[in-house]
Amino acid sequence: MLGRRAWAEPWKVKMVEHLRMTTRGERERAIREAGFNTFLLPSELVYIDLLTDSGTSAMSDRQWAGLMMGDEAYAGSMNFYHLEAAVRKFYGYKHLIPTHQGRGAEHILSQLCIGSGQIVPGNMYFTTTKMHQELAGGTFADVIIDAAHDPASEHPFKGNCDLAKIERLIREFGAEKIAYLSLETNVNMAGGQPCSLENIKATCELCHRHGIKVFLDATRAVENAYFIQQREQGCARMSLAEILRAICDCTDGCTMSAKKDALVNIGGFLAVNDDELAERARNMVVVYEGLHTYGGLAGRDMEAMAIGIEESVQLDHMHARIGQVEYLGHKLIDAGVPIVRPIGGHGIFLDAKAFLPHVPREEFPAQALSAALYVDSGVRAMERGAVSAGRDKQTGKHLFPALELVRLTIPRRVYTQAHMDVTAESVISLYEDRQSIVGLRFTYEPKYLRFFQARFEPVRGERVLTN
Ligand SMILES: *Cc1c(COP(=O)(O)O)cnc(C)c1O
Repeated sequence: MLGRRAWAEPWKVKMVEHLRMTTRGERERAIREAGFNTFLLPSELVYIDLLTDSGTSAMSDRQWAGLMMGDEAYAGSMNFYHLEAAVRKFYGYKHLIPTHQGRGAEHILSQLCIGSGQIVPGNMYFTTTKMHQELAGGTFADVIIDAAHDPASEHPFKGNCDLAKIERLIREFGAEKIAYLSLETNVNMAGGQPCSLENIKATCELCHRHGIKVFLDATRAVENAYFIQQREQGCARMSLAEILRAICDCTDGCTMSAKKDALVNIGGFLAVNDDELAERARNMVVVYEGLHTYGGLAGRDMEAMAIGIEESVQLDHMHARIGQVEYLGHKLIDAGVPIVRPIGGHGIFLDAKAFLPHVPREEFPAQALSAALYVDSGVRAMERGAVSAGRDKQTGKHLFPALELVRLTIPRRVYTQAHMDVTAESVISLYEDRQSIVGLRFTYEPKYLRFFQARFEPVRGERVLTN
């Protein structure tokens, strides 16, 4: 199909960025000073940065050239019209409201469409999405299929919505109590797991039948389209662009973090079909982000995004992107390391509960494992477990989601196969030596999105890795 078997990249390196190598002693000091939170490490002290795939992509020469074409007019920048044309063509929505990044769009959508006391069903929560829903007075309700909460399940579409769960919510609360359904593609917190096109269509059909709107979190919709093409019956001959349109066409609009699929370092958008909702969103974007033709972005950022959107739907690009993730995943599976199966789109998710059975949930095994990984090799990962989940709004107790994960997120077009080898070696050596990893307790806990700035200390001694 691609004319070759390997996933090798359809690009070559034009410029390099040097990385600083550190000693283990330096890293032990750095992680202690960072309160055992990888978010608080200076990136200069990180060797391979797998904290996130958000805004960390390498732009192409065409995108860099696009930056030079920035039209920095306050109103009506040419680059806005280019971006609007790209969003209409590839995502298909009528109205584009640019925002500084994804959460800017989530803020506007939540404030406009959620009434106090309303329910917002979604296929697993995402941190910023849920936060904005709650700040708008809504309550998130998880409607993802049960298999998504089981790291060992090989279900090919673990991002799917469970229609029976949606129907139950409608019966229990009534359709008018449901603000809208928030449909995430390639579900981040489930391990980058896709939804099937069939399920997306059925979910939208069910909601629309009850007069409930569906807004897509399109952040990784193109990665989702790739899995649909690879796995879903009847979709193998469709292009990624065609599948993306098929996904978007059944929904009423989307929020988007362009820092992921769209291959830019900053940017996002809200896109909707409804004229009146678009008007209200434009009224609001001027308060929080900027004029409706720039939404907190420079003209050059919008140009790079327009070009990035077009590059993101190229099959060669996506084959290499997901191929690299799968390469790392298979190395770990072959060594017996417990990871979320099947391998997802944007990273490898270590199952910290299975990795560190001697560390109880109250001692945050995923947080401890990501700190230990940094000490071992300078690879920076991220906790996606109880620390990320926060506390219950009502009881104030820690939430313990079924999944307690460490995310090794792969930036797009940035690292080589040898970097993946180094990462795999470090994880495998930690797995062999897992008894030497010590749990953590909070020394500082912020009120909102606590994982970003929380600080910890080991429950015993001073080190997270005692060998
Ligand atoms: C990153 C992300 C967001 C938030 O976008 P930002 O650009 O970081 O504000 C929303 N939803 C999903 C699924 C994401 O991965």
